[in-house]
Amino acid sequence: MKNIKDFTLDELKEELQNLGEKPFRATQIFHWLYVEKVKSFEEMTDLSVSLREKLSQEYTMCNFNILRKLEASDGTKKYLFDVLDGNAIETVLMEYHHGKTICVSSQIGCKMGCKFCASTGIPFIRSLTAGEIVEQLIAVEQDTGDRISNIVFMGIGEPLDNYDNVIKAIRIINHPKGLNIGARHISVSTSGLVPKIYDLAKENIPCTLSISLHATNDEKRSSMMPVNNAFNIEKLIKACKDYIAATNRRISFEYALAKDNNDNLEDAKELVKLLRGMNAHVNLIPINKIENGAYTKSTNENIIKFRDYLNDHGIVATIRRELGSDIDAACGQLRRQSLKK
Ligand code: SAH
Repeated sequence: MKNIKDFTLDELKEELQNLGEKPFRATQIFHWLYVEKVKSFEEMTDLSVSLREKLSQEYTMCNFNILRKLEASDGTKKYLFDVLDGNAIETVLMEYHHGKTICVSSQIGCKMGCKFCASTGIPFIRSLTAGEIVEQLIAVEQDTGDRISNIVFMGIGEPLDNYDNVIKAIRIINHPKGLNIGARHISVSTSGLVPKIYDLAKENIPCTLSISLHATNDEKRSSMMPVNNAFNIEKLIKACKDYIAATNRRISFEYALAKDNNDNLEDAKELVKLLRGMNAHVNLIPINKIENGAYTKSTNENIIKFRDYLNDHGIVATIRRELGSDIDAACGQLRRQSLKK
């Protein structure tokens, strides 16, 4: 069965027309799904009983079950959701002074193979549909009663490897009649799928693009991130420059600092050279240790030195606050889980 949350408003209008209904019914359904956040077609009381019945015969609503919920000492919450096919994914809710940010997963597993990330090492199952991405937000809002103001595609999976569904999910999340979260409050993070960066530049969605850079030369980056063998740093930086030129948007570079690997001043110098003159911001992440991981966190002293070097040389850099590490909800600590015995 089709999932009613897999459609943008325009697509839903077409669906309704195919059922012999007027397109404005789609707007009513959209409202029930994303503003009222109902869990059944029966609750859509301004639709006729016969239409409600027809809808429940044709569509599911993919209401996720919460399998587990953990709360960290800093208030970060991590959800394990049953995605209704025997698999489970994680979603994280963080509190910042500017509001609540949700970190959503885009795939069940990940193909990218980054050496420092816990989402690697367990087989890739499949991409999530648009509705399954959106449902993470709805389910968390329903559970907490909170209004989520920001969304980051930084959970399990490579969002640009699930391009069409991620774009569709953004259109539903961003729509004024949908979840109504402004594009500027939406961030998409990629390990560097260069052709998709060019596609994203053409979408006319002013979301923030984050690039997981983590190293400044090919040898080091390839040793950490196999994707660099396909799209090296030169190609990646060129794509970023073209993206900035096409969209007039600033890019955020993520750089996870690992002790004695990419955290010395030579690396900082190379990073300055690489990003000089670009409309960019660097987000430094103290690397989180994962089970059997080869990397350990830089010392606080090194992290601060690294940041200060960048700032002193014209590159705006901030250190990302570590949230939720005591419940394995921090960057790189999320994993998919199988419910099958
Ligand atoms: N696949 C996308 C989305 C994941 S976002 C991407 O690679 O960008 C998660 C962010 O956390 C990425 O920047 C990722 O590189 C980073 N990350 C992964 N493992 C980490 C770890 N152990 N410590 C800190 N950051 C990590």
